[in-house]
Amino acid sequence: MSKPKDHEEPGAELARLMLALRAQGVTAANVLKAIETTPREVFTPDLFKARAWEDSALPIACGQTISQPFIVGLMTQALRIDKRDRVLEIGTGSGYQTTILSKLSRLVYTVERYRTLMREAEARFKTLGLVNVITRFGDGGEGWPEQAPFDRIMVTAAAPDEPKALLSQLKPSGVLVAPIGKGPVQSLRRYTGDGQGGFSVETLTDVRFVPLLEGVAKEL
Ligand code: SAH
Repeated sequence: MSKPKDHEEPGAELARLMLALRAQGVTAANVLKAIETTPREVFTPDLFKARAWEDSALPIACGQTISQPFIVGLMTQALRIDKRDRVLEIGTGSGYQTTILSKLSRLVYTVERYRTLMREAEARFKTLGLVNVITRFGDGGEGWPEQAPFDRIMVTAAAPDEPKALLSQLKPSGVLVAPIGKGPVQSLRRYTGDGQGGFSVETLTDVRFVPLLEGVAKEL
């Protein structure tokens, strides 16, 4: 007989989540370890802390969402990050995905269009002692030209179509992963540079992301 939920030993929810990720195809050891060692409750609002280890997206401030752990795992794995890589992330949100990326790479540059989310995420990076994350308040659709080119780019908001400005900031053999589409369901795409200025494009799965919006948010 299974134990009642409120009597579960600590870590049981985490163990269940890790099993669910593996079962769904997130198998890269470095990615699983980064997820396992990142306390998701740090990134969720008080109201949802009890649900932090569920495999579901949850609401955060400014009408945005913290992504589902499975999707974070899938996208991170698809990016094929090397420990020496400089990574650009568009859409800092809670900073959860940023933290996972920071554990797997040399340096993460992350851009957010809401000041409030940016500040809250910065406070979390400080609490967690991350020293390889650089934040920017701005329109991530424009990338971060001063720091380009990047080895890897991850977009965590849905781009309406091929993100040309971002692809132009990718190294010739770099990889970009982004949800692409205008509707409520988008295609998760991986662009892999061929080393000569071209890309191969793969569609990985259907996803549901908030849209990548133009400009910075006027509200806080
Ligand atoms: N990676 C986040 C999920 C973020 S949701 C996490 O792990 O919590 C998508 C985020 O992209 C939102 O915070 C939204 O404000 C941001 N966003 C949307 N359009 C943007 C743009 N043009 N530039 C920067 N950030 C953007």
